[in-house]
Amino acid sequence: RAKIQKQIELIQEQIDNLIERIELLNQDIEAREIEIVNLEMTIDDCYTKFEHRLRASQVTGSATNWELLFGAKSLSEFLSAVQTIKRIAEYDNGLIAELKESKKEVEAQRAALQKDREEVEALKADADEKRKELDSKLAQVQDSINSINTTLQQTEKSKKETEAEMAEKQQEIDNIYKQLEFDENYVGGEFLWPSKSFTKLTSTYGWRSWSNGASDFHTGIDIAGAGIYGTDILAANAGKVAYVKTTYVAGKGYGKYLIVDHGGGYSTLYAHCSSISVKVGDTVKRGQVIAKVGSTGNSTGPHIHFEIRVNSKHQDPLLWFPNVKK
Ligand SMILES: [Zn+2]
Repeated sequence: RAKIQKQIELIQEQIDNLIERIELLNQDIEAREIEIVNLEMTIDDCYTKFEHRLRASQVTGSATNWELLFGAKSLSEFLSAVQTIKRIAEYDNGLIAELKESKKEVEAQRAALQKDREEVEALKADADEKRKELDSKLAQVQDSINSINTTLQQTEKSKKETEAEMAEKQQEIDNIYKQLEFDENYVGGEFLWPSKSFTKLTSTYGWRSWSNGASDFHTGIDIAGAGIYGTDILAANAGKVAYVKTTYVAGKGYGKYLIVDHGGGYSTLYAHCSSISVKVGDTVKRGQVIAKVGSTGNSTGPHIHFEIRVNSKHQDPLLWFPNVKK
């Protein structure tokens, strides 16, 4: 946008320059027009004088010069007549020369005027071109402003949608936990990592933010890695399958998931499975395969979403696995 802004300023500057040059040329044209009028007046004046001279000589006839000469009664009169004839001839020649000079200058001025006019036309065309370019740039700016506004609106919408969806998911899980009845006595022993060979975490427990600006509290950890799809999900401890869900809306929630009750208020949850091999009420052993890794529900790639809850309240699973790197 800053680049386009810069281009617009540059074009505007060019247009201003062109307008300035056009104004200067117009002033020049005006001056030349005045000059031409003046020259034409001079030419008219010369013509008038010349005409007068011609008319005068017509009146006196071509014999005038001879009459002047042969009418002389003395040498001095004769010489004076010669002088007069000479002066008249000089005067005529002067008029002709002046006339020629003026005509030449008028032609030069007219040519210059034509050049100026052509230049003005060219500059005007140039300015028009620049204005068109400016209009197109401004349209481009408007387009990008519109597009940014649309994106902002979409981001805002998707942020709200994401947060609403996350809240809905939490509500759903909370409701399920409220309905479940857990065994009072803990099965004992330590928790087992739910995957045989995958320990890479793509998301840890706690607040997280999404690319659209939304944020939600991640109630478990995401275990992933190349080739994890379809691999075994192991029961973290012995217990009873408390809940299994295999129906889901594509792209939403936990997808296929299950909850195992380990007694004493402890339970584990495994989500986004591709398949679940146990059913509600089944007793499972520690390390037993209970499901396969998938990417069902709201998931961007195959992973195990693993939760440990104590009295239905989610905890950071890594508290039980201090050796796993965050
Ligand atoms: Zn998760």
